[in-house]
Amino acid sequence: MGGGFRNFFGRIGNGLRKFMTGRYGTDKLNTVILFTGVVLCLVAMFIPFPLVKLALTMVSYGLMFWAIFRSLSRNIYKRYRENRKFLILLDRVKDREHRYFDCPRCRQPVRVPRGTGKIAISCPKCKEKFIKKT
Ligand SMILES: [Zn+2]
Repeated sequence: MGGGFRNFFGRIGNGLRKFMTGRYGTDKLNTVILFTGVVLCLVAMFIPFPLVKLALTMVSYGLMFWAIFRSLSRNIYKRYRENRKFLILLDRVKDREHRYFDCPRCRQPVRVPRGTGKIAISCPKCKEKFIKKT
């Protein structure tokens, strides 16, 4: 009783696990991409202008496709790097007390307090000096 069912779903589960072996799976970036895609798709349904609706729908499908592509990707290292970059960016956006600049010479990110006006920043890595408004 019910054994056949369990077997059936067990086999699907096994097949899925086998299919996902060596593939990236999901991460925070994927969740955000997928969520944005779904939201855009829903928003598009309420837009009365056909062209805008079409454009939004295309973008939302693109985002969902991108999320699926990332989770099925076998280039795990590259996907991992993308997610890390995204998390760093997210931290920067969330941080209301600092501004982040990339050193114009060596690309080293430099964090400075916000709202101090124009200041001269010197890169901690290559000592390059540059002026930024904070
Ligand atoms: Zn530098």
